[in-house]
Amino acid sequence: MTVNGRIYFDHSATTPMDPRVVSAMHPFLAEVFGNPSSLHRAGREARAAVEHARQQTADLFGARPEEIIFTGSGTESNNLALIGAVEASGWQNCHVITSAIEHPSVLETCRYLERRGVALTYLLPNGDGLILPDELRKVLRPATRLVSVMTANNVVGTLQPIGELARIAHEAGALFHTDAVQAAGKVPFNVENLPIDLLSMSAHKLHGPKGVGALYVRSGIKLEPVIHGGGQERGLRSATENVAGIVGLGCAAELARAEMADEASRLVQMRNHLIETLAQTASNSYLIGHRYRRLPGHICLGLAGQEGEAIKLVLALDEAGVAVSSGSACSAQHVGDPSYVLRAMGFDLIRSRGSLRISLGRFNTQEEVERFLTLFPAVAASLRQITTRRSGPAVTQGAPAYA
Ligand code: PLP
Repeated sequence: MTVNGRIYFDHSATTPMDPRVVSAMHPFLAEVFGNPSSLHRAGREARAAVEHARQQTADLFGARPEEIIFTGSGTESNNLALIGAVEASGWQNCHVITSAIEHPSVLETCRYLERRGVALTYLLPNGDGLILPDELRKVLRPATRLVSVMTANNVVGTLQPIGELARIAHEAGALFHTDAVQAAGKVPFNVENLPIDLLSMSAHKLHGPKGVGALYVRSGIKLEPVIHGGGQERGLRSATENVAGIVGLGCAAELARAEMADEASRLVQMRNHLIETLAQTASNSYLIGHRYRRLPGHICLGLAGQEGEAIKLVLALDEAGVAVSSGSACSAQHVGDPSYVLRAMGFDLIRSRGSLRISLGRFNTQEEVERFLTLFPAVAASLRQITTRRSGPAVTQGAPAYA
């Protein structure tokens, strides 16, 4: 998407709203203002819109509408899934398994559970960022109530074998939750065939509005609320519904479902072209994460010998009119810190400081990709020259064995 001549390649941080989503939301920001809990016509109109959006959201996952709980974000969905499941099953003698590369909204919630006495196990990925099913088998215990592994990692883009992980969790009598915030609307899901109990998603990652998310809760799964109040959303998320946001989420989910196959193949083609061309033109760059099992539009690049330059490179590219990110958006506040995701994947301290994330979306074009490919080697080389002048030749780390 080129706005004022600028290219936006940071869709894993957030996506621009699809104009069709904006149009769908518009009446609910103005004339249709009722509270969905009210009995009068204005309330009933709002209720009908919320229930339509619930159906649209359920359809994205092959779920039933009553299995969708609207929340305020992906973060809130993750909190509700983890805390709600532990609260419902009892805090005593409780063991939870997650991975060391989850988003902070899962990891920090797990740390909270630990402070409340829950035993936690953090699975380490392999060098491609994959959580191997055998590793899960080794750490399951009779007390394991919940396993939570993200569908796709936000930093490296690797897609996890969640079907297999969920089956293993179930065989051991544990529930399975997946944080699908990065994957929902980008890769197909069908909860009729996937033994997932809980799934988190967020509208702003699929060309919907910010500040609205959903949690899929399989029928029969017991969950306790985290937010208490008037009993909306089957008592699991009290608060007057964000009607316009929910309508936006529903519309974004429907568009993603209808356009997923075409969009994914277009993004994969552009992504592969970027990976292959950068390997030739930016010879110190290497792909981080799995080569094929990755989100359609996601690239994570390491830059051998330029690890300390990732932030400068993001700023220099921004100056040149391209928005990309270093690591994840959440880590932008921790500029220069090594990425805990790359550390968990076995990267040393130097290499885990220097990744660049390029994430494509619905409105990106081949022309933008070509423009980026022309621009990138020159911008990277200009930074290298500055560094070399200041500190002598950069020490080349070489690509890691697993890259
Ligand atoms: N989980 C993952 C994997 C994410 O990438 C993000 C956002 O970056 C979240 C959860 C949080 O979602 P939200 O921004 O809606 O709170």
